[in-house]
Amino acid sequence: MITRFVCLAAVMIAVPALATDLHDAVRKDYDGYLAELFDHFHRNPELSTVEFKTAKRMAQELHDAGFDVTENVGGTGVVAMLENGPGPLVMMRADMDGLPVEEKSGLANASRATQTDPITGNTVFAMHACGHDVHITSLVGTARQMAARRDEWNGTLMLLVQPAEERVLGARAMKDDDLWGRFGKPDYALAFHVSSSDVAGVINVSEGSPYAGADTVDIIIHGVGAHGASPHRGKDPIVLGSQIVMALQTLVARELSPRDPGVVTVGSFHSGTKHNIISDQAHLQLTVRNTSIETRNVLLSGIKRIAENMGRVAGLPEDKLPEVIVSNESVPPTTNNAELARRLKTAWSDAMGDDAVVDIPTKGMGAEDFPLFVDDPAIPSVYWAIGGTPQEDFATEKAGGPPVPSHHSPLFKVSPEPAVKAGVESTVVALLSLMQE
Ligand SMILES: [Zn+2]
Ligand SMILES: [Zn+2]
Repeated sequence: MITRFVCLAAVMIAVPALATDLHDAVRKDYDGYLAELFDHFHRNPELSTVEFKTAKRMAQELHDAGFDVTENVGGTGVVAMLENGPGPLVMMRADMDGLPVEEKSGLANASRATQTDPITGNTVFAMHACGHDVHITSLVGTARQMAARRDEWNGTLMLLVQPAEERVLGARAMKDDDLWGRFGKPDYALAFHVSSSDVAGVINVSEGSPYAGADTVDIIIHGVGAHGASPHRGKDPIVLGSQIVMALQTLVARELSPRDPGVVTVGSFHSGTKHNIISDQAHLQLTVRNTSIETRNVLLSGIKRIAENMGRVAGLPEDKLPEVIVSNESVPPTTNNAELARRLKTAWSDAMGDDAVVDIPTKGMGAEDFPLFVDDPAIPSVYWAIGGTPQEDFATEKAGGPPVPSHHSPLFKVSPEPAVKAGVESTVVALLSLMQE
């Protein structure tokens, strides 16, 4: 009884002391250093796979903070290590790429940067329209706090600066560059995303799946070309493609449990060249989303079954049935380790207050490539969101004013100050809580 009382008393005294000290330290570092760094990154976004200057600057910042830095991991990726005695190896990841979007936020530091798009070869505007500038600025803030607090933790801290998240290429590329072989396999892995749909500064953490799994699927439909006036001489791939598109709608509506989310979107349907020609091919492009492997299997096997059998319905021979091609660039759902999420929730509530931590499920089925770091081999991980939109902006929207811009919009803007501060604080609290073993 007495021992328990002493323990509780110690916790009650120690936690607010850390919280106040950390809060003040992060505030000072934001005002004196991180605000300007964020401004630099916001004005100078770079596109996926060609984040050369961003990576260089991150490598320099993390080196200056006292970390051992390795560049060019999986392309432009950066790995920064800080060893601090025996203890767990904990990884924190920040993605650094911008998007080919012309910024129209109206902000004083709006990006006017342009870059050669590595996909098209065209010169395009670039913008941090997803808020990855918040992630990398916070990572630098975290590095500076953790280096200054070496007496408060044990183990090895691994900070990853990841390229090409927007094209879901970067995590795989870093992992394929023998990431764990070269730097060690982490005992825990962490990451966060700033979110325009959460109130600035709050931590939104789920014990389930904050991001969906995504597959890219192509369906090639072989028809038999003919004159548009003689349909009986051909097999019309546009009619067959239309039947496939409509039949695919039954997968989510009729084959998944209504409590089990999934998406099958046909984003592109291309066929034909002229009014009076029946084409001999149609091409459908799909994105398919899930929150579990079971759902993924139902959707992908259903797409194949529907496409092939609709081909049979149209009377196509077995060697001309529609081909379903699933890209190997799929990502699994981002699934938090529930126990670890609960543990961090408690640490965050204790350090930052109960009001700072929420669990509001996401409405969309966006995907992330972070799970490629933690799925195989499995590493306990938590991925959380940091709110980036001031409460007043939600109130204005509710009152009929301009809507809060979404991620990837040219109008996208998050408030860097509360977002970066909460990003650093939540990461440092999580690391300190995990690195006591
Ligand atoms: Zn994005
Ligand atoms: Zn993003």
